[in-house]
Amino acid sequence: FGFKGCQKIRGPQLRNLLEAKDFFLFDCDGVIWHGEKAITGAAKVVSSLIRQGKNVVFVTNNSTRPRENYVHKFDRLGFTDVMLEQIFSSSYCSALYLRDVVKVCGQVFVIGCEGLRTELQEAGIPCVEEVDDPDATIYDCALAPDVKAVLVGHDDKLTFLKLAKASCYLRDPDCVFLATDNDPWHPLSSGRILPGSGSLIAALEVASGRKATVIGKPSRFMFECISSQFRGVDPAQCLMVGDRLETDMLFGSNCGIDTMLTLTGVSQIEEAEKYQNSELTTNQSLVPDYVVDTIADFLPAFEE
Ligand code: PLP
Ligand code: CA
Repeated sequence: FGFKGCQKIRGPQLRNLLEAKDFFLFDCDGVIWHGEKAITGAAKVVSSLIRQGKNVVFVTNNSTRPRENYVHKFDRLGFTDVMLEQIFSSSYCSALYLRDVVKVCGQVFVIGCEGLRTELQEAGIPCVEEVDDPDATIYDCALAPDVKAVLVGHDDKLTFLKLAKASCYLRDPDCVFLATDNDPWHPLSSGRILPGSGSLIAALEVASGRKATVIGKPSRFMFECISSQFRGVDPAQCLMVGDRLETDMLFGSNCGIDTMLTLTGVSQIEEAEKYQNSELTTNQSLVPDYVVDTIADFLPAFEE
């Protein structure tokens, strides 16, 4: 395909690229959907790739739902052929990390949504039960004696008490400090934003003087989960399609995978070009190999 870096790709070149790759990794929000609304044409793209016998997986930093929930969401939004095995969320991969890498024996203190706990339960990982006493404070609440890991993800019911407890558990150097993802913020369709897990993790990193191990993109771990479940994935055969340079493009680079930025989400092409023109060589890992306006640009390539 000739030169690389921020290449706007369409027509026969795009068709050649799609034919050359046999494993497609799609980020979800900003690529496949915006919140509860599918990106126009995305369902057709996914079903066409699957029909052509390509492997398709979804790699999302959103830790708030268990995988079953994603299967239902895909179905609801018109992606009727997506199966559980194709979904790699930061909650699912965090559960795998705690089970298979940390091999945690003891409890996990979770800051996160119910979906994250569900995912941990399914992997057989015991979590500290949160008792909902609105008047409890760190001065008088009980701390569990056997907490071996603190896992922090997006939590729409975050309280000061949860941060305080997590800070106390992290005083123990043997207590593992994990983050589902380090996303700074998320766009809402209304033009407002949500602070992401990254902002909560920053608070706990300051309080503990420690650095969290990040499971989600751009860390390689999610690709390790994918490779162990799809035997013999060759990075050269993969394409990572995402909308955020600092997570998706860096993830692809970290995994030795070609990357494609789609302009339906967070990052603009100007930001990619800025990284490309930057003197800092580390910034080159944030530059996509290819750029499309939307994944619906794939559709003509599926026509005879
Ligand atoms: N985490 C939360 C809580 C979100 O709301 C979102 C996007 O909406 C994400 C993470 C990012 O998800 P993705 O990696 O699919 O873009
Ligand atoms: Ca995204």
